[in-house]
Amino acid sequence: MIICKDNITSKIKYWGDSSIHVVTDFDRTLTIGESESSWGILSTGDFVSPEYIEDRNRLYKKYRPIEIDETMDWEKKNQYMIEWWNKHISLFIKYKLKEEVIKNAIKDVKIMRFRDGAIEMLKSFYKRNIPVIIISAGIGNFIELFLKLHGCYFDNIFIMANFIKFEEGIAVGIEDMVIHSLNKNEVSLPDKILDKLKNRNNIILMGDNSSDINMISEEKRKEALKIGFLEENVLENKSLYEKIYDVVCMDKTNFKELNKVIPLLMKDVSNESININ
Ligand SMILES: [Mg+2]
Repeated sequence: MIICKDNITSKIKYWGDSSIHVVTDFDRTLTIGESESSWGILSTGDFVSPEYIEDRNRLYKKYRPIEIDETMDWEKKNQYMIEWWNKHISLFIKYKLKEEVIKNAIKDVKIMRFRDGAIEMLKSFYKRNIPVIIISAGIGNFIELFLKLHGCYFDNIFIMANFIKFEEGIAVGIEDMVIHSLNKNEVSLPDKILDKLKNRNNIILMGDNSSDINMISEEKRKEALKIGFLEENVLENKSLYEKIYDVVCMDKTNFKELNKVIPLLMKDVSNESININ
């Protein structure tokens, strides 16, 4: 089921490929709702010790309900999210996560899956030369390998995420700042990316958390086309999502279905303007 605000048609009517850029979340946005997140991959196989898995699952059980609780005070929730991310990173260090384990895990992963049409959509953005910025609170190393595995890590894609830093093949921490689910607004894009976004003021934003709208600044948010995937706590969160997103996708919407409503996602003939009526 896809719910659209009334003004969508007029909002995107004159959006041409050369004026668009995409800002998207990764886990449960490009991937399906039941997909294991990039943080969870290691706990799904025999890649790491059972002690790590136990510790990781304990953290997940405690913090995931908090992450999707839209009633909790922001400041309080923010503190919990910082705690969760830091504790999980400490587990990588404590259990001496090896770089080769990451590389092997991604090949075996069956639980992380793209939404139908995601690969075609990324290919279409590539062919149309539309920059795609993935801002993820997930593990960048996995995201990069997953895109490569599916043959869609194109040079118009930029990943801003938590990249595990390895020294002599052993995890020692995270490169740069830790991105958790509530601080995506603090991610600043490097100049080489900003350069590619010049004169591309029409933004397609996609996310599954309510906080994903913070991937772009408040002033840009009004004009952007905001697409939200809602698959957990649906009843509780539906009205909030309808308020903050222009398009709310429920019931496991895939990108082929979404493209029928928003025909900007997959079109391989580049037109300067589109007519969607
Ligand atoms: Mg997500």
